[in-house]
Amino acid sequence: MTDVLVIGGGVIGLATAIALSQKGASVTVVERHTSGDGATCAAAGMRAPEEARLEGNIVGGGIRSRELYPQWIANLMRLSGQDCGYWCCGIVAPILSSSSEGDRLALSQHPKYINRAESHKRQSGLGESILGSLWLPEDGQVHNRKLTQALLAAARSLSIKILEGTTVYQIVRDREHVLHLDTSAGKLQGDCYILATGAWTKALFPLPVKPIKGQMLSVCDRDRKLQRVIYAPNCYIVPRHDGTIVIGATVEDTGFTQGNTAAGIAQLLNNAIAVYPAIANMQITETWWGFRPYAPNEVPILGASDYENLILATGHYRNGILFAPITAKLLTDLIVDGIPIQPYSALR
Ligand SMILES: Cc1cc2nc3c(=O)[nH]c(=O)nc-3n(C[C@H](O)[C@H](O)[C@H](O)COP(=O)(O)OP(=O)(O)OC[C@H]3O[C@@H](n4cnc5c(N)ncnc54)[C@H](O)[C@@H]3O)c2cc1C
Repeated sequence: MTDVLVIGGGVIGLATAIALSQKGASVTVVERHTSGDGATCAAAGMRAPEEARLEGNIVGGGIRSRELYPQWIANLMRLSGQDCGYWCCGIVAPILSSSSEGDRLALSQHPKYINRAESHKRQSGLGESILGSLWLPEDGQVHNRKLTQALLAAARSLSIKILEGTTVYQIVRDREHVLHLDTSAGKLQGDCYILATGAWTKALFPLPVKPIKGQMLSVCDRDRKLQRVIYAPNCYIVPRHDGTIVIGATVEDTGFTQGNTAAGIAQLLNNAIAVYPAIANMQITETWWGFRPYAPNEVPILGASDYENLILATGHYRNGILFAPITAKLLTDLIVDGIPIQPYSALR
């Protein structure tokens, strides 16, 4: 039995806690607010490894994680008895008349290119500016807020301790080991510590992770005619089963600045209405924002650290929902079976 303390109750911390527990470890998650309150509940929940502009060897990681998804979700549903809003609805990634000639040419030669008429067959009601698109049938979404609830219920079903409202102030360490966590609930000690604190990582440990703010909003689609994710160059539009449409997201390097701005929401709405005009008449139901954990080159920081018993699991930037299953698997393979993490290198 390993005693593992996971710092951070987002999708990465919870998914890893569950995978470790199912391999026999005794796990505690320490979360300063409510689980999922960070980037996890702010996200759109797309699983889009091909459209997310991933580069280098993390493309393969994204595709592998997408492949793991069905089984990962089935396990969560079995443990939690809850639906996660997992929906392989496909993604239409439009090429707009405003795109550069080079981009248009490159995309029109892509094996997944479909012309304007075929794009409209996949999803009716697309805007005039759409010249054609990439059709990505294997991509889709998970309802990240439902997923959070399912992760929590699954964790509880496995007797994972979740200490919400508990802040880690300091990771107390000597030259080679973490000795304990100094927290608002006192000293916490384990055999192994996992750092899964998203955009807030740097406050606890010197890693090059910074927040990149994303503003979002949702509207209500009474007709429920939108059945595909639309992933345009300047916005994405994600329909949920209940008629909610999520529209995102701005990309702002403004630190932890709170709040939605008029300019941010106007930009999202203008871009979304251009690619799916019916949005113009839909009621706005919610606006929100979140902080993506950005790491250099958009590569997650995973695996061993300079401290023997501290494992890093941060920097998932705009793909942490997609990357959760493979992250949980890689970390469990490392911690339980000693298999080093190959596809990513831990940046320090
Ligand atoms: C607007 C937006 C849209 C996105 N859309 C998508 C998408 O469509 N698809 C996709 O795959 N990804 C998307 N992402 C990215 C995804 O949400 C993140 O990569 C992912 O949620 C990161 O998960 P995490 O667990 O590492 O971090 P978080 O969810 O941020 O969790 C970190 C947790 O650590 C806790 N914590 C921090 N410091 C401490 C401390 N000192 N003590 C105790 N607890 C602490 C925080 O309270 C937080 O709950 C989006 C993100 C944003 C902001």
